[in-house]
Amino acid sequence: MKALVKEAAGPGFVLKNVPVPTIRDDEVLIKVRRAGVCGTDVHIYEWDDWARGRVKPPIVVGHEFAGDVVEGRCLLCRTGNAHVCPFTRIIGVDRDGCFAEYIAMPAVNVWHLDANVSYDIGGIHDPMGNAFHTALTADIPGSTVLVTGCGPIGIFAVGICKAAGASRIIASDVNDRRLALARSMGAHDVVHPGEAEAAVKAVTDGLGVDVVLEMSGVPSAIHQAFALVRVGGRVQMLGIPAKPMEVNFATEVIFKGITIYGVVGRRMYDTWHQMTRFLRSGEFDPTPVITHRFPLEQADEAMHVIKSGEAGKVIFEIA
Ligand code: NAD
Ligand code: ZN
Repeated sequence: MKALVKEAAGPGFVLKNVPVPTIRDDEVLIKVRRAGVCGTDVHIYEWDDWARGRVKPPIVVGHEFAGDVVEGRCLLCRTGNAHVCPFTRIIGVDRDGCFAEYIAMPAVNVWHLDANVSYDIGGIHDPMGNAFHTALTADIPGSTVLVTGCGPIGIFAVGICKAAGASRIIASDVNDRRLALARSMGAHDVVHPGEAEAAVKAVTDGLGVDVVLEMSGVPSAIHQAFALVRVGGRVQMLGIPAKPMEVNFATEVIFKGITIYGVVGRRMYDTWHQMTRFLRSGEFDPTPVITHRFPLEQADEAMHVIKSGEAGKVIFEIA
C-alpha cells in the first residue's frame, strides 16, 4: 500500500510503498477513504522543535480520517454485547487453546484474579461464568428457583442462587451423584425430573417457581421449565438441545406471559466482575464442584470420567 511516511529526522514526507498493517486481536483494519491534514501534521512535516522532541521516524503520519472497517469488530462489541459478537474466535475452538504449557491471548480478554483465588478456581471461571450469567440476569433475591440439570454449570448455579438470596432452590437431575453435589452447594430440594412438579408445587403454593434455570438442554426438561415456571415468570435457557425441538408457544410461553432469556457465554465484562465480587464475599465457594484432576498425560481418563457422569468439574493440572 502507499503511505506518507516521515522517513527520517528532517523536513518533509515521502510517499512510499509499505506493507499493509497486520492487526492484533484487539485491533481493526480500516480502509482509509478521506484523511484530514491538521496543524500537527504541518509541525511534523516542518520538523520543528516539538516534532523533534516527540516523533520517532520512520512512521506513517496522519491522524484524522474516515474509512471502512475491512477486518475487525462490530456493532455488538461497541454496544455492550460482545458476548454475542459474530466474530468471536473461541480459544481451543477457532484458535489455539489452553491444554498446553503456554497460550497467547488477546490482552483485552485477560482477567486478573485476586491473589487469594486459587488456580483451581481460576481455571473454572469459564463454566462458572455461564452459571453467573444465567442466574444473575434473572431476579434471584427472594425468588423460588428451579434448576433443571445439575452438571457442573447447574451445580455452580445452585451455589450462586444461594449466595444471591434465593428463598428456595429446587434442583433436578437424573443423576444422584450430581444431586448430592447440588445439595452440598445449597439446594433445598433435590429431585429426579419425575418428582420436580410435586416439589415445585409444594413450596410455591401451587403457583410454580419465579425463575427456572434450564441447564440440561434436554427437551423434556425444557418443557418442564415452561410448565413449572409461574405465570409471568422467567426461564433462563443455557442448556443446548442437540437438535431442533417443538415448543407450543401459545400454551407454554405466550399465554403464560413468561420471559425467556437465551444465555450465550458470559457477559463481557459484567459477569467477570460479578464472579470476582461473589468470590470476595466468601458467600460463594465453588470448590466442591471440582471432583477430579489429571495431568495432561491422562487426557483419555479425563474424557472417560466426564462421559461416565460420575464427575462434577474435571480439571487438568498443568504446572
Ligand atoms: P452436563 O451435560 O454436564 O449437564 C447436564 C445435566 O443435565 C446432567 O447432569 C444430566 O444428568 C442432566 N439431565 C439430563 N436429563 C435431565 C432431565 N430430564 N432433567 C434434569 N436434568 C437432566 O453439562 P454442563 O457442562 O453442566 O452444561 C449444561 C448445558 O449447558 C449443556 O447443554 C451445555 O451444552 C450447555 N452450555 C451452554 C453454554 C451457553 O453459553 N449457552 C455454555 C456452556 C454449556
Ligand atoms: Zn463484535
